[in-house]
Amino acid sequence: MHPFYRGLKLGILGGGQLGRMLIQSAVDFNVHIGILDPSAEAPCKPYAHEFTQGSLTDYDTVYAFGKNYDVLSIEIENVNTEALEALQAEGKQVYPDPKTIRMIQNKVKQKQFYEKHNIPTSAFYTVENKEDVISHAALFPMVQKTAEAGYDGRGVQILRSEADLDKAFDAPGMLEELVDIDKEIAVLAARNPKGEMAIFSLVEMVFDPVHNLVDYLLAPARITESQKEKALQISRDLLSRLSYVGIMAIEMFVTKSGEILVNEVAPRPHNSGHHTIRACMTSQYEQHLRAILGLPLGNPEQICPAAMVNMLGAAGHQGPAIYKNIDQILKIPGVFPHIYGKAMTKPQRKMGHITILDKNKELLLEKIEMVKGLIDVVSE
Ligand code: ADP
Repeated sequence: MHPFYRGLKLGILGGGQLGRMLIQSAVDFNVHIGILDPSAEAPCKPYAHEFTQGSLTDYDTVYAFGKNYDVLSIEIENVNTEALEALQAEGKQVYPDPKTIRMIQNKVKQKQFYEKHNIPTSAFYTVENKEDVISHAALFPMVQKTAEAGYDGRGVQILRSEADLDKAFDAPGMLEELVDIDKEIAVLAARNPKGEMAIFSLVEMVFDPVHNLVDYLLAPARITESQKEKALQISRDLLSRLSYVGIMAIEMFVTKSGEILVNEVAPRPHNSGHHTIRACMTSQYEQHLRAILGLPLGNPEQICPAAMVNMLGAAGHQGPAIYKNIDQILKIPGVFPHIYGKAMTKPQRKMGHITILDKNKELLLEKIEMVKGLIDVVSE
């Protein structure tokens, strides 16, 4: 029977902003959503049909939650995959597959998967501890990554020379060749259980050259046709080899010599796909729902060039959030704030994002600078 007509219940592990935007799409499809999240103040809480407060990594909690739903999915990958496997064995539909989620949770296993399946990625050497790192010192400069629990820059560091050995992590992981990066791009690709695929136009992360942090995202990415073709081919290959179901964000490097290398993937909607809500025929969230519910995928075509700027908590501010200059931001045509509803701001916390649209790419760049100058998330 069709999911639209049988009161299907979807359970999502994680109740952050990605889940919240997934709920927005689920409303259009009249899908009943339950959310599991450890925080009583999760951004999804006011909008979910059911909200369960609990750990995402505890077997019993995830299992008990999953029992209540027909289809299960995630908005964060740090979840208990054993419980999801048990639920899958009992006939629940779990997408993406728990085995894939488990592989992705571990950066080393991800790299080994790419190597085994000839998916282009930088060279790497596995290490168990700091001593191992020291024994590879002849290979420096390298990027050290811990296998697990690395998230948003934690557990990743560049070791340039033997002088950096002191700060090496004493944990299992790997050393990766330091890639000579020209651009960082992301591909948002979806696959449904029938094997149909749809890929959004590529996204470019534009870095602030002074702080070396992502400044804004631009879609479509400014890369050559042949680089684009390579990136699309790699993405299709990756999704089919995994028999993947759902949306996946594939982060890639375009090297100075024009090669495309996979850095890492996220098995869920992603920060780099927020613009799709406004700029594409189908959003990444609706696409994820279509994929996991076994529906035909939506047209991913981009209607208008777009940029996305994160609204990050200002330095030195911690406490109840105030969003300054919103009226001025809203006055700019084609500019759309999305506020995540987190009560408390803190430095660098993702409090919202702003999508910026303009058919004229020069004007788009001008508007990005205007918006960046206005964003200010402070505390009371
Ligand atoms: P995280 O999971 O913390 O996001 P990533 O693996 O994406 O970690 O690395 C974070 C950033 O570090 C990347 O966006 C890139 O700028 C840089 N980086 C990661 N791996 C390499 C590499 N092999 N060579 C050069 N830079 C790298």
